[in-house]
Amino acid sequence: MPLTIPHPHNSCKKSHSGAPGLQDFGADLHCLMSGLASLDAKTSSRLGVLTVAYYLWTTFMAVIVGIFMVSIIHPGGAAQKETTEQSGKPIMSSADALLDLIRNMFPANLVEATFKQYRTKTTPVVKSPKVAPEEAPPRRILIYGVQEENGSRVQNFALDLTPPPEVIYKSEPGTSDGMNVLGIVFFSATMGIMLGRMGDSGAPLVSFCQCLNESVMKIVAVAVWYFPFGIVFLIAGKILEMDDPRAVGKKLGFYSVTVVCGLVLHGLFILPLLYFFITKKNPIVFIRGILQALLIALATSSSSATLPITFKCLLENNHIDRRIARFVLPVGATINMDGTALYEAVAAIFIAQVNNYELDFGQIITISITATAASIGAAGIPQAGLVTMVIVLTSVGLPTDDITLIIAVDWALDRFRTMINVLGDALAAGIMAHICRKDFARDTGTEKLLPCET
Ligand code: ASP
Repeated sequence: MPLTIPHPHNSCKKSHSGAPGLQDFGADLHCLMSGLASLDAKTSSRLGVLTVAYYLWTTFMAVIVGIFMVSIIHPGGAAQKETTEQSGKPIMSSADALLDLIRNMFPANLVEATFKQYRTKTTPVVKSPKVAPEEAPPRRILIYGVQEENGSRVQNFALDLTPPPEVIYKSEPGTSDGMNVLGIVFFSATMGIMLGRMGDSGAPLVSFCQCLNESVMKIVAVAVWYFPFGIVFLIAGKILEMDDPRAVGKKLGFYSVTVVCGLVLHGLFILPLLYFFITKKNPIVFIRGILQALLIALATSSSSATLPITFKCLLENNHIDRRIARFVLPVGATINMDGTALYEAVAAIFIAQVNNYELDFGQIITISITATAASIGAAGIPQAGLVTMVIVLTSVGLPTDDITLIIAVDWALDRFRTMINVLGDALAAGIMAHICRKDFARDTGTEKLLPCET
């Protein structure tokens, strides 16, 4: 069966230049759902399942690399475990953190989720020992003694036998102010999948969401001009609060080095090795083919803005099947952000270290799950990861205010993580093209896997 992907504007045709241009790609994005529907059901579901599984797996690997780097470099200084009494702020147990995560994923009320999130409340309860009055030990013993020292001197010793009151922490589910980003992301993703399955009957709602998104983006584009002022005041406020701004500057330097080292390890070693083991092809040749896209990612800090160039590079330089690139890239730009996930995990643990919180194993697991979810929820635009950081910090009870601490260096780190996001999507397209080559050859009735020329 010949495989063609219908499009309202017949966009499967090449653009006039012979190469897929920006408009061509914009149209490609819109035909993603209908394009998928027209693929052979077996091929499309295999490609879909493999792509999403690969994306989740590599994102989780990126998080693990981030956690590994931040644990060995310790950019925020060695954390000394503060007891809840010392810090005055009870830290949530990891079981509660995980339960909150699950509760937040399924909000009972979607409107409420835009301003409230589930958060276990931990309150200290002072328990006095239950002892019968007649059995109660004497509260205070006074020992009078005489001690000879440089002549005679009388000293009194008092021994307080009152047992200290036992403080236990009671946890009960509650809510706190702040948007339940995780719940909203989870709902939106489910809704998106369902709308995709509905086909034409879901199209009006899809175009309503697209229109809403475009108009909000236009408002954001205006607001972006005021960002620098806001950021200057936020950072100035944070610096004034600091006891030793120099020490914090040094920690931020180490934090940046940690993020960059993690990105290099993941992007230049782990992902290319994975590509090599699966495809048995040279990853350096593949990466050379997408160099232009990587440079655009570095310059724009936006994987969505880089999408058309990534698409062009994959088709023209790496000869990836057009239908695979058309599916794998847009899905990747939405859910696969290895660089962002790695950075979110490092940033959260860095903030814990700066605040002297020692995170236990359960909390590290919570961070790895939420960092993966937060990267899926982040848009492919500059500094989107900074916004979804809130999900990660609130999941383990870390102060969200401290995001201002890392804003100062985020504009630079964002560029590097965007490069890794784009690299991850492109390598995924290469791997999927290799794994699904037989399915696609069968669908087109040819063994030759050239870009779709319909
Ligand atoms: N700027 C990143 C991207 O576009 C997202 C982020 O991590 O902020 O891929």
